[in-house]
Amino acid sequence: MFDVMSDHELQELHLFQRDELNALVAIHNTSLGPALGGCRFVSYKDVRSACLDAARLARGMTYKAALAGVPYGGGKSVIVLPEEPFDRTALFEEFGRWVETLGGRYITAMDAGTTIKDMDAIHSRTAFVASHSKIGDPAPYTAEGVFQCIKVSLQDELNIPLNKSTVAIQGLGNVGYRLMEKLIKADATVIVSDIDNEKTRKVINEHGVFVAPVSEILMEPCDVLAPCGLGGVITEEVIPRLDCKLIAGCANNQLLTDSVGQALWEKDILYAPDFVINSGGLIYASGRYNDHSSAQINDDLDRLSNMLLSVFCRAHNENKSPDQVSVEMAKEKLG
Ligand code: NAD
Repeated sequence: MFDVMSDHELQELHLFQRDELNALVAIHNTSLGPALGGCRFVSYKDVRSACLDAARLARGMTYKAALAGVPYGGGKSVIVLPEEPFDRTALFEEFGRWVETLGGRYITAMDAGTTIKDMDAIHSRTAFVASHSKIGDPAPYTAEGVFQCIKVSLQDELNIPLNKSTVAIQGLGNVGYRLMEKLIKADATVIVSDIDNEKTRKVINEHGVFVAPVSEILMEPCDVLAPCGLGGVITEEVIPRLDCKLIAGCANNQLLTDSVGQALWEKDILYAPDFVINSGGLIYASGRYNDHSSAQINDDLDRLSNMLLSVFCRAHNENKSPDQVSVEMAKEKLG
């Protein structure tokens, strides 16, 4: 575990075990404020893979908050999905009790596998929660930020009008589905895919969009590939088969390794770094947590696409991949 901490420059790592609760909280960096980041509730093969996931995600949150101009640091928690039947409310209440013991150094929120109801259970034990039913779902704001970033990248970098573009979306979850709706409304051509057949059946019936097989969506000929499922989908192996000009989606940690970013740059595929363009949900959750007005939250959200353009500009000027540049820019803000 210490190697995971040093590899990811984690400040703190906390492990909690009680009854069915097996949880860990990774705090990456608190130079800009307390660590804020979602709570992931999925299966892991062992505690090391849970730790690796939390560490990588926590680091991404530090960079995300720094570039979004949000006064928070980066953290993430992981609760291992129990294999046996369990009392869900009791489990999240117990987790809330542990979050409280950290005294506000970590503020939790929704992430893959958790719901607003789970957040309410945590909130019954601690105030350090940035998404619960009084705050609302951050996903619409994440989708809006990604949509604006796709629009501006097509216009300014690729000279393709949105209504003449084709976008392939992998994953029709809380964010991916909303992104699809916005793109359809803007007259873009949309291709989608999801491992959940119910979701693809629904979009065929409601929107008549083209559904690609799960194994093919990344390789679909398109202008924009939008990974909106889980991370690690862009790999060295997949790059020679990609047929897109831009990769811009909401999933965290889309590139399996750092070298993938350089390989995309060399292949002339523009990558909009995930933590730059998917921070709409963080902007919303942190804004609501601090009682900011809707107007202020929307202004902060509108600045996202300009940040992306400055990343692209520096990437071109320095001939470095956008993911490398965005990490450098985030680190500069950390001081
Ligand atoms: P979600 O769980 O609601 O949706 C994910 C969807 O992707 C599901 O429908 C799932 O079936 C599908 N999927 C998973 N693997 C797939 C595959 N290989 N091929 C096709 N479909 C696949 O999650 P979400 O809230 O929409 O978030 C999606 C991603 O964006 C996650 O990586 C999350 O960490 C990240 N993210 C979300 C937010 C937010 O506000 N919800 C903010 C920032 C980042």
